[in-house]
Amino acid sequence: MRKQIVAGNWKMNTNIAEGISLALDLRELENQFNNNVEVIVIPPFTHITEIMNALSDTNITVGAQNCAAEEKGAYTGEVSAEMIASLEASHVIIGHSERRAYYGETNEILNKKVKLALKNNLTPIYCCGEKLEEREAENHFNVVKTQISEGLFDLSEKEFSKIVIAYEPVWAIGTGVTASPEQAQEIHKYIREIIAEKYGKEISENISILYGGSVKPSNANEIFGKADVDGGLIGGAALKAEDFMGIINAF
Ligand code: PEP
Repeated sequence: MRKQIVAGNWKMNTNIAEGISLALDLRELENQFNNNVEVIVIPPFTHITEIMNALSDTNITVGAQNCAAEEKGAYTGEVSAEMIASLEASHVIIGHSERRAYYGETNEILNKKVKLALKNNLTPIYCCGEKLEEREAENHFNVVKTQISEGLFDLSEKEFSKIVIAYEPVWAIGTGVTASPEQAQEIHKYIREIIAEKYGKEISENISILYGGSVKPSNANEIFGKADVDGGLIGGAALKAEDFMGIINAF
């Protein structure tokens, strides 16, 4: 059975004191979390160690929001997959639409990041999703297929099995507009089909595919209720412990 996952992407929010305080709030509430859900918090790089300390002896794991496309060396300001792994972080988001849009990250660059993450035993959460104009032109299936095939499809079966995919329509991120549960299901099912074509049914049935885009406690249940939606990548609602818990408990 595939994992149900809720991951909170804090983006560039919280200073260190605020971040620790949010982690301690989550720690306080953890005994009320649905035990069947894997919970991951993904703070800024600067916070990872402190957040791990604040969440020690809980089942909540900590990830990173990005990693470099190079292994090491003269890349000022970059943070390598190996550095993140050395903090004992569990996951790394790769290809968030904000990275694609504002930092020019192409599928080719993301493919390098995925491989470095895997080499360092980090679980990539690989993001895909179309822009509004691409959906309006009914090109969303093609866009997502290209993002997934160029970013991931040269991995071995063993490597690919370790990936988590997040489908995040750009028009739904941070906008308050959510894909309808039917829209989410339609494209999650399609993603599973293209994975099955490439890697076979067993692998495709075991990959967790998360939905992201304005998920809140009030809409999570309907979206998570769909057959091919295995959880969520949460932005804004991950910044309030009560809201995040509401989403974790929405399955
Ligand atoms: C995200 O950034 O991955 C995200 C889904 O953000 P939000 O939940 O705020 O739309």
